[in-house]
Amino acid sequence: MRLVMASANPHKVIEIAQLLDGIEIVARPSMLGEVVEDGATLYENARLKALAVCEFAKLAAVADDTGLEVDALDGAPGVRSARYSGDEATDPENIARLLEALSSIEMAGERTARFRTVALVRFCDGRELRADGVVEGTIAFAPSGSGGFGYDPVFIPVDGDGRTFAEMSDVEKNSISHRGRAFAELARLLS
Ligand code: IMP
Repeated sequence: MRLVMASANPHKVIEIAQLLDGIEIVARPSMLGEVVEDGATLYENARLKALAVCEFAKLAAVADDTGLEVDALDGAPGVRSARYSGDEATDPENIARLLEALSSIEMAGERTARFRTVALVRFCDGRELRADGVVEGTIAFAPSGSGGFGYDPVFIPVDGDGRTFAEMSDVEKNSISHRGRAFAELARLLS
């Protein structure tokens, strides 16, 4: 089986190719323009990306979308995680806004959150396979660690040992992460 990646992010391409072991992953066509991710849900955004690739490449596509859901913020930033502090937001700016929004929550146990990934394969005949992956955790009081990306420096997974995702190796993070779990389930569905 061959799947075209809906993401051009090289880090993600390698990670997903490893997670979907045995399936040929083709790079996103460079001629395909940026897809506007204006869906109201993670699923809608993943679907928009997969559809665009499917229509352009005429091949089955694999896409994913991830959000950080913070309970004390009623699930924000959620689908807006990449642009939480503005359309051109950097990771440190998003983290700063998140820590500010949680500044009145002083109990670690009340700073609960989760990463959620929706992973999708869309075939050209319209069939779809969907898998969700979740990792529960808490938001730290300050960033810690230099690995990973996004909100990793402030996310402490409950399945870990108190370190943030940014303090873990890629292998450690992938073994418990939302994306790792979503793609493990997708691989199971594909087999
Ligand atoms: P995407 O859908 O994978 O592009 O993720 C949207 C946004 O969620 C990213 O821009 C990051 O801010 C955040 N995010 C996604 N995955 C991770 C992760 O594994 N660690 C930390 N932040 C993430």
